[in-house]
Amino acid sequence: MSKTLVMKFGGTSVGSVDALKNAIQIIRNAKKDWERVVVVTSAMSGVTNLLIDSAASASQGKVDSLSATESSLREKHFAAADALVKDEAQREAVKAEIDALILSLVDLCKAIAILGEASPRAMDTVASLGERMSVRLLAAVVHDAGIPAQAIESTEFVVTNAHFQNAHPDFNVTTEKTRGKLNPLMDKGIVPITTGFIGATSEGAITTLGRGGSDYSAAIIGAVLPADEVWICTDVDGVMTTDPRIVKEAQTLPEISYNEIAELAYYGAKVLHPKTIRPVLDAGIGLRICNTFNPSHPGTRLIPSVKSNGKVEGKVIKAVTAIRKQRLITIEGRGMLGVPGVAARAFGAVASTGTSVPLITQASSEQSICFAVPSELASTVLSSLEKSFAREIEDEDIDRVWATEDVSIITVVGAGMRHTPGVSGRVFSKLGNDGVNVLAIAQGSSEVSISLVVEADDTENAVKALHELIVAS
Ligand code: ASP
Ligand code: MG
Repeated sequence: MSKTLVMKFGGTSVGSVDALKNAIQIIRNAKKDWERVVVVTSAMSGVTNLLIDSAASASQGKVDSLSATESSLREKHFAAADALVKDEAQREAVKAEIDALILSLVDLCKAIAILGEASPRAMDTVASLGERMSVRLLAAVVHDAGIPAQAIESTEFVVTNAHFQNAHPDFNVTTEKTRGKLNPLMDKGIVPITTGFIGATSEGAITTLGRGGSDYSAAIIGAVLPADEVWICTDVDGVMTTDPRIVKEAQTLPEISYNEIAELAYYGAKVLHPKTIRPVLDAGIGLRICNTFNPSHPGTRLIPSVKSNGKVEGKVIKAVTAIRKQRLITIEGRGMLGVPGVAARAFGAVASTGTSVPLITQASSEQSICFAVPSELASTVLSSLEKSFAREIEDEDIDRVWATEDVSIITVVGAGMRHTPGVSGRVFSKLGNDGVNVLAIAQGSSEVSISLVVEADDTENAVKALHELIVAS
């Protein structure tokens, strides 16, 4: 029998009575194959957004929607408890605990409204309530289904710094505490059911690991126990070759390497939180993505980048993704040639607007630097650049700073590209043949991906064309 498994259920996987029934079944099956099982849960779908919106409105003095929020939270959690916790005493107990958390939301929002502001720390206390409710619900329904289970908040053992809303765990302390709290339960055959997304500082202030962070929680817990595997149970079969809304032949990849998924996560694939990868990779733990709603599907397995024989397995090109609603910003001028520091100042100006840059290119003529930013931030970035380069623009060392209309960044991912000459040739011939014009190109030195920029109207054609290369390779 295998040893320790950490399974994480996302928001939709615990978001309804039917989803919870599937989750129970998956946990029951896992218990047959694994000696020790830990379950990590997200908040029920939609709940974290609702909590954050309530706190944000409260900070503007608006509390009128609070009673509607209260009822909708009650309804969502209570409906599941009513349907799935048959034991009346247990059912009433869990509903009372959830109700107390809902009442604390109301108190917190009223306090925020009086103060007229919500600090990051207050936001985390509010945002944590979703997982603190769902963990109680899930433990109660699993227990009621005859599987010994116990809710435990990860604030008791995931110890983080005080970087509220994006906290970082202290792995040493977390290791000791996690083992101390979870092992005794598992020794007794109990499945600990714990909260994703949240932790606490060593002083006990509640923190969150960033939006979508419960995948990361599962990785942290898996790494420190250590577990043998971490499963991310979500609402899709796994990582796909591309977006099935664009290409209906898109397929689930049975395997993908850590460095490939890192490129995909960065380029907008929503399947796995990017921070999940590091802890499991470092600890050498297996990671699997699977579908709560299609449990017999094998899902996608994460594999080390290169097999022990040094070979990269499988297809050269594995996946194609598109990030839409970007604009390319170009800084151009003959006066930039050989002048050090232009790029540093340009990206300093971009950073001062809080914008992160998904793609950068500079030709060796050094007469222009070009990079992408999300469309809605383009005008802010432009003004910031014009301000920092006011002198150079006046002296005509820089001719202009300008932004395109909306474009998309298309990324082709596959670790095999590194050892296979001619891949980019195939990529660009295919696009040329299909009439797609390429505006800019970037290839990371990792050679695991090639990104190219196309006009918004060409997005679907570009993705379709490149997906044909996967099928053909
Ligand atoms: N509930 C949190 C969020 O919505 C964490 C998660 O679901 O991963 O961001
Ligand atoms: Mg998620």
